[in-house]
Amino acid sequence: MYTRFQEHLRKELADIEAAGLYKNERIIESAQGAEIMVKGKKCLNFCANNYLGLANNPELIEASKKGMDARGFGMASVRFICGCQDLHKKLEQKISEFFGTEDTILYAACFDANGGVFEPLLTDEDAIISDSLNHASIIDGVRLCKAQRYRYANADMEDLERQLQAAQKNRFRIIVTDGVFSMDGNVCPLDKIFELSKKYDAMVMVDESHSAGVVGKTGRGVTERYNLRGQIEILTGTLGKAFGGAMGGFTTGKKEIIDMLRQRSRPYLFSNSMAPGLVAAGIRMFELMSETNDLQDKLHENTEYFLRRMKEEGFDCKPSESAICAVMIYDAAKSQKYAMMMQEEGIFVTGFYYPVVPKGQARIRVQISAAHERIHLDKCIEAFKKVRKEIDG
Ligand SMILES: *Cc1c(COP(=O)(O)O)cnc(C)c1O
Repeated sequence: MYTRFQEHLRKELADIEAAGLYKNERIIESAQGAEIMVKGKKCLNFCANNYLGLANNPELIEASKKGMDARGFGMASVRFICGCQDLHKKLEQKISEFFGTEDTILYAACFDANGGVFEPLLTDEDAIISDSLNHASIIDGVRLCKAQRYRYANADMEDLERQLQAAQKNRFRIIVTDGVFSMDGNVCPLDKIFELSKKYDAMVMVDESHSAGVVGKTGRGVTERYNLRGQIEILTGTLGKAFGGAMGGFTTGKKEIIDMLRQRSRPYLFSNSMAPGLVAAGIRMFELMSETNDLQDKLHENTEYFLRRMKEEGFDCKPSESAICAVMIYDAAKSQKYAMMMQEEGIFVTGFYYPVVPKGQARIRVQISAAHERIHLDKCIEAFKKVRKEIDG
């Protein structure tokens, strides 16, 4: 059998490569940070989700080591059998305090949090109304659930209202949205979504993966940005982005919802508990967040500076309230060339083109971090100018 299957895979792989969609891994020979080593050369990293620059933070490394010394390396169990230490409960409490929610449940990743959130709560009588640009893990989570599916165009409130009207026949309704959409960097219009949820009697779930730690004056996410702390039924998020970048996910929100997830959420019931070292670092991370707002302030300053300077230099950037800056190139081939030439200039950015973004909407995505210094931002802007000159003349 394998000979025939191998043929099949080789052909599919060749098709992926021919379509220019083959993913090659770039090997980093240093810790994650603003400056990284690639092929023995120092580069500036503008494509990590390391928004607060905590991925190589000495305090978190120390907390993680201490956590391992005190509570060991691994749990070798799921939570409800013998995989729950005092540390896990403490991290869950810290997350609830951070978001102003009632209770929190940890997962190995946000992919699991989203994969395990719908099926335990909703049945075929119910409705999930989902933004068309929601993350793959939300889409997969919705697929695992029997609820009726409604989709609305990205952040399109007229379309959402139509879907809510269509869903009035269902027993329960939930609107689901990313807090920040990763391709444009736009923040979901949670104020309007919340209003519509009240008008049409629906609940709301927000995936804060790209927004937590970033959006809002103190980085408490979109519920801070829109003054809706504690008013959204379900938030999901990751410890793999702004919050240290290691790994771990969570669902936080209403007490009874979290309670039901502990009873029935499959990635929670059937997958290993988070390692003590990661949990201990997570606790320290949330302590840091409550002690100072310096990192958020620096991230916001950096993002404003970068966007302002790029616009002054005549680049076409999508408006952004997040740390994601989409520099529009429009042409797919050109965007690839840009990304490649930027890399030659020692700047790591990602080019996105169809089918990841709509046709004719190719772009370079720049991700700003609190780890970036002014000189890093200036180097990135200079590289953009140099590459533009070489491409456009
Ligand atoms: C990154 C991301 C996830 C997945 O998070 P992990 O913890 O890495 O699994 C889920 N949702 C959104 C919106 C994301 O951006």
